[in-house]
Amino acid sequence: MAECIFCKIIKKEIPTKILYEDEELLAFPDIAPQAPIHILIVPKKHIANNLVLTEKDLALMPNVFKVINKLSQDLGIAQSGFRVVNNCLKDGGQAVDHMHFHLLGGRSMKWPPG
Ligand code: AMP
Repeated sequence: MAECIFCKIIKKEIPTKILYEDEELLAFPDIAPQAPIHILIVPKKHIANNLVLTEKDLALMPNVFKVINKLSQDLGIAQSGFRVVNNCLKDGGQAVDHMHFHLLGGRSMKWPPG
């Protein structure tokens, strides 16, 4: 997946500030933050979106939420709260076709979302 921007970040071809990394996941700040804290949690495997998750890919999910909880602690938003967003395909607002989770915090979120 040479063209995928998140694959390039994962391969360290595009620099970022790595906030968390293990063999399965990478977390780094969103380039266009929508909140004081806006982190992307990205599987290292190129998975286009939720709809193509295999059974093996689904096994990543406990780690995703473990990392989200760790980052919320590390970044000081575990007490105030935060929002986790996953955009899927066009109506979901997915711009990068490499499945990822947004961790947003540091301000009060609105509902319904835009
Ligand atoms: P989504 O709309 O859910 O696909 O979100 C894609 C996110 O990736 C957007 O919030 C972008 O701001 C973010 N993004 C795009 N390119 C980069 C990059 N090079 N580094 C960090 N975040 C990026």
